[in-house]
Amino acid sequence: METKKKDIRALTREQLRGFFVDQGDRAFRGNQVYEWLWQKSAHSFDVMTNLSKETRGLLEANFVINHIRVDQMQRSADGTIKNAVRLHDGLVVESVLIPTANRTTACVSSQVGCSLDCKFCATARLKRMRNLNPDEIYDQVVAIDNESRLYFDRPLSNIVFMGMGEPLMNYNNVLKAIDKITSPAGLGMSPKRITVSTSGVPKMIKKMADDGVKFKLAVSLHSAIDEIRTSIMPFNATFTLTDLREALQYWYNRTKSRITYEYVVWEGINDTQRDVDALVDFCKFAPSKVNLIEYNPIDDGQFQQASKTALDRYVGTLEENGIVVTVRRSRGKDIDAACGQLANKH
Ligand code: SAH
Repeated sequence: METKKKDIRALTREQLRGFFVDQGDRAFRGNQVYEWLWQKSAHSFDVMTNLSKETRGLLEANFVINHIRVDQMQRSADGTIKNAVRLHDGLVVESVLIPTANRTTACVSSQVGCSLDCKFCATARLKRMRNLNPDEIYDQVVAIDNESRLYFDRPLSNIVFMGMGEPLMNYNNVLKAIDKITSPAGLGMSPKRITVSTSGVPKMIKKMADDGVKFKLAVSLHSAIDEIRTSIMPFNATFTLTDLREALQYWYNRTKSRITYEYVVWEGINDTQRDVDALVDFCKFAPSKVNLIEYNPIDDGQFQQASKTALDRYVGTLEENGIVVTVRRSRGKDIDAACGQLANKH
């Protein structure tokens, strides 16, 4: 008969200590196990060699470690690595390692599929199957840190929540994962090297500000005109630009942390001077910068990257208005690892 064992990494350190005390053992046993689970990323109880056989047996009888498994690793000609990550229930998400001259960035997923419906994003077609648990997010980061050490001889330096899913629709688990990533009992990374990217859920942006989070915020804007944004990101009908703006103002007042807007320019969609002017206006209420992202085609051509002239107009007007703008080249396109291409095609 199968008894339901608990995911041991759903327990806090205190709860683990409590478990051992309840078993008539010493509380510090909980610290030892906690260290194995998080700092050393143990995949099984067998490796916990400073515990007795009986203790390991006790853990085995009561708990499971739902560790992820990197099923397939693809390498792009530009060095980008994409991991197909199998979860304990058989579902798959993807995460990406992006190397540059002096950085390694991990792009991680927060949900299996996505509940939003952005017309230009491949992940949106998968729909949302479930939220990832904090340990499943943490494991993706550890896997990429290991790959960075192995292939690039350096540890992971940055993390972006720009993989599958909408992080603010799985806020509690994302926060718990970041807590582990930044804690000395986990990976000890600085929160300043972590960026959470959102399509813009106003209520959650305000909550983040109230929670005093220390990581950075990026917003996938793509248009500062409501009708246009709603046509490509239909949830904008509910979370309008007015509400988003108000939430971002609140965020900035509370955190004093500059906002990054991610923006793709598409031909015939948002490539006129009116679109540029609306963006400039949107950038003015709080210190911000704009990342113009190259479009990664996902279908038969409903969306087309705008011309260089259109892009130059954006850059020129933004700069004239004193707004910092960067044009981002895509990475990992040949293995479907670029923004918006994550759709479990492997
Ligand atoms: N849900 C979050 C994080 C995932 S998307 C968010 O929306 O921010 C990560 C980034 O890739 C977002 O800025 C998104 O708008 C962008 N993106 C989605 N599809 C894309 C595509 N086909 N080409 C380029 N960027 C895309």
